[in-house]
Amino acid sequence: MANKRILIVGGVAGGASCAARIRRLCEHCEIIIYEMGSYVSFANCGLPYFIGDVIVEEDKLLVATPELFKNRFNIQVCTDSEVTRIDRAGKTIVVTDLSSGKTRLEAYDALVLATGAAAVWPNIEGVDLPGVYALRTIPDSRKIRTALDNIQHAVVMGGGYLGLELAENLKKRGLDVTLLQSSDQLMPMLDKEMAGYIEKHLQQHEISCRLNCQVSSIQQNRDQSLTLHITGGDALTVDAVMISVGVKPRAHLAIDAELEIGEHGGIRVNEHMQTSDPAIWAVGDVVEVRHVITGEWHLFPLAGPANRQGRLAAAHIVGQEHAGAATGMTYRGVQGTSVCGLFGLTVATTGVNEKRLKASGFDHYEKVYLHPGNHVGYYPGAKPIHMKLLYDSHDGRILGAQALGESGVARRIDVLSAFIQMQATVYDLEEAELCYAPQFGATKDPVNLAGMIAANQLRGNHPLACWEELLESHVQVVDEGEQDNASQMLSLILDDPFSQAQIVDVRTAAEFQRKHVPNAINVPLDDLRERLGELSREREVWVICGVGQRAYNATRILQQNGFQVKNLSGGMQTYNAFQE
Ligand code: FAD
Repeated sequence: MANKRILIVGGVAGGASCAARIRRLCEHCEIIIYEMGSYVSFANCGLPYFIGDVIVEEDKLLVATPELFKNRFNIQVCTDSEVTRIDRAGKTIVVTDLSSGKTRLEAYDALVLATGAAAVWPNIEGVDLPGVYALRTIPDSRKIRTALDNIQHAVVMGGGYLGLELAENLKKRGLDVTLLQSSDQLMPMLDKEMAGYIEKHLQQHEISCRLNCQVSSIQQNRDQSLTLHITGGDALTVDAVMISVGVKPRAHLAIDAELEIGEHGGIRVNEHMQTSDPAIWAVGDVVEVRHVITGEWHLFPLAGPANRQGRLAAAHIVGQEHAGAATGMTYRGVQGTSVCGLFGLTVATTGVNEKRLKASGFDHYEKVYLHPGNHVGYYPGAKPIHMKLLYDSHDGRILGAQALGESGVARRIDVLSAFIQMQATVYDLEEAELCYAPQFGATKDPVNLAGMIAANQLRGNHPLACWEELLESHVQVVDEGEQDNASQMLSLILDDPFSQAQIVDVRTAAEFQRKHVPNAINVPLDDLRERLGELSREREVWVICGVGQRAYNATRILQQNGFQVKNLSGGMQTYNAFQE
């Protein structure tokens, strides 16, 4: 249909990209965007950096204006216009002009819901007090920036990526910052032992971080300061509170119109981003999408997926005759590829984490930990990358990866993300041909190394043990009440002479002396061949070194000398991560 009337509700990431793509595919469609805020197509991802004065001019946050949409794309943008109802039978929407209060009916041939997500406000007394903020929009960021002049100490409630970015930017503005997280780790998209690096990094940058901390109420004092009462009796007095405990899909229009809604409260869509009504599409934070690995429905409030979904919906709305080959596009699901910067540390992840694998009942997976340099050690400035790779123990398919470090992290996770999308295996990672020069990488890039370790493990010539394996095999010796304390359990286990494995540390004597696992014996790698007689052939030998590489060589020597041997994945570096 040449003159389709296409209405789009929400004019930022998903809505704006959908509108522009429709125009590129269909010059004669009528396209109108309704946005209840005063801005379209603004860079919400830049807002924390606007607060931190990294982005100084507000204009830089405006990716496109209504004028640009009109002049370049012939798209009409109605700002300060809230869509308040959908009449599916009549194919109309009710639009309220927020400046005049007037309402009008608008008819559509196709409707796109790109209404995004709203901040979750914890259900506690005092969240509506002055001095309590959430950051979603340009006006929010303006309000926070203005208030900063009178704030010395702020609390950030919530340790996801947005909470961390806010904490960093407030600190950069000279504030004392305390980060409160209700669960036992920051960045819930990571596994706990990987998130520990972030906690350490925050401490180094003088941000106080309190885990397992539930705020029960906020109270305003006479001097306008705010006291947060914490479950258990503790209290904290600050000048401002930033709420960043998550988002929920803004799906009320769809709910009222009785479109299918999923178990997480997002709009259910098919692989063309079409809702249960064939004339209505939905994209972005408001939809539920399938996880590429588990196939489960999830909410993934991320800018990249919102933009790609908008583009894909456009092709299907416009139809075969205009979109051509683009109509072959189907949505592949989301793999949660995300990245966060924190005082020079990059934290990135893709695919599924171990917690989610366990929760989904996916039991045929393996994992490796590794700590390679971002580039060769002989070139100045090499920095470690702490990586965890999860893969299918049946066929080697890559399931997920997490990485942290000061340099080269996002590049490795992006490579792994592309491999995951192509349903590649760890054997493919071994063969990946990646850029190399001394300042950029190594002849065996961290991505290759992850694949090599995993592939060797699957081939049986590099058996791996992991720290939880030690913990789990001895769980019966620990009182129930102590099971939470991993380091306490670990030392109990390792003191146990009946432990299933003999722990052999193959680092040098000096390294061993500095710190070692209780009950480990020290046989430096270079002495190992001469000292094989000292090792038990009755029990498995579990080998440790600094990061796993020397232990790999030791594993090969021992295996070929008839020992039952495993390498404790990631060595002392990973042991420390589990302990901390
Ligand atoms: P949005 O971009 O939120 O747009 C939805 C729009 O719909 C809103 O402007 C809203 O006003 C409008 N709307 C809602 N209901 C109505 C209605 N009834 N009528 C009219 N208009 C309506 N993601 C990343 O991947 N990386 C990042 O670094 C990152 N940083 C972020 C930092 C911040 C501070 C925030 C807030 C988000 C960040 N995100 C980041 C998330 C990312 O911005 C979102 O995933 C993305 O914007 C979602 O796009 P969307 O189109 O679904 O929703």
